Amino acid sequence: MNLEVFVLGTGGMMPLPGRGLTSVLLRREGDLFLFDCGEGTQIGLRRLNLRWKKITSIFISHTHADHVTGLPGILMLSSQVDRNEPLYIYGPPKIREFVDAMRRTLDMYINYEIVVREVEGGATIVQAEDYAIRTHTLVHTKPCIAYSLEENMRPGIFFPDKAAELGVPRGPLWSQLQSGESVNLPDGSVVRSEQVMGGERKGRKFCFATDTIAAPGLADFARSSDIFICEGMFSDELAETAAEKKHLTAGQAARVARDAEVKQMGLIHYSPRYSDRELKKLLGEAREIFPGTFLTRDLQHIEMPFEE
Ligand SMILES: [Zn+2]
Ligand SMILES: [Zn+2]
Repeated sequence: MNLEVFVLGTGGMMPLPGRGLTSVLLRREGDLFLFDCGEGTQIGLRRLNLRWKKITSIFISHTHADHVTGLPGILMLSSQVDRNEPLYIYGPPKIREFVDAMRRTLDMYINYEIVVREVEGGATIVQAEDYAIRTHTLVHTKPCIAYSLEENMRPGIFFPDKAAELGVPRGPLWSQLQSGESVNLPDGSVVRSEQVMGGERKGRKFCFATDTIAAPGLADFARSSDIFICEGMFSDELAETAAEKKHLTAGQAARVARDAEVKQMGLIHYSPRYSDRELKKLLGEAREIFPGTFLTRDLQHIEMPFEE
C-alpha cells in the first residue's frame, strides 16, 4: 500500500512567488489527507496535477490566516465532482465558526456534507481499521494542534521453507498460517503460525507540527516517525524573535527530531525573509544537530516505503 507525501507549500506568513503557504497532502491508497490550507493551496494541488477534489479529510493546525484562508476555494471546487462521502475538517476551537461563517457569507454552493470536528491535543481523532490519526497540543499564540498518522503493526514475513520443512503442503493451510492460525496435519501434528512467521513489523508514521515552540511532549508524539514535517521558521540567530512569536528555529526543530529519533525531518514554514538560497543556512544549523534533516520544497513528492 502506497503512502506518499506531496508538499504543496513551504512558506509561513505570506505566499511568495514560487513559495506557497505551508500545506502538505498525504495520500494513502484512495484517501487524501490535507494538512493545513493557506491561501493558494489549490495552486499547489493543481500544479501537482493531483485528482484532489475528493479530499477525505482536512486537518488544520490553527486558525491563523496563513493556515486556513485556502479553505473557501477548496470547499467550493470540491463541489465540481460528485461525492457521497462527507468531507471532514478537523481543527482547534474556532475552526467551526470559521467554516460556518464563510459558508454563510459566501453563499457557497456545496453538494456534499461537511463535518467539522473541533479537536484537542492528546486524542485519537480517527481510528481506522489499519491506522490511527492522533493529535498533540502545540504551544503557539493561539490554540494549535500537531497531527500524526500511524499505521498498525503488520504481520511478520511468512517463511515458506519452514512450512514445507514442517510438512505443511502449499495451499489453503499456508494462508491459514499466514493469518495467524494454527493448522492440523493429517498425521495429527499441529503447526503454529509463530513457527513459520517472523515477528510483527512496524507500520509507517507521518507527523506534522507547525506553528509552535518546543512544546512539552512533542518529541514523544513524533517518536520514530518515518517522516516528521516540522516548522523551522528562523535561523538560530533569531532565537529571540522565534520565542517571542512562538515559533521554532531550525536548530530547535532538529533537537525535537533528534530526541524523537525520527528517520527524517523536513523543515517547513520558512520565514519570507529567507530566499530559497538562504535556506541552506537553516539546513546547516539543523543538520549539525540532526543529520536526517532536509528542506521541504514546494511540489516535492516523497514516497514512504515500508521498512523492509
Ligand atoms: Zn503560520
Ligand atoms: Zn501561527
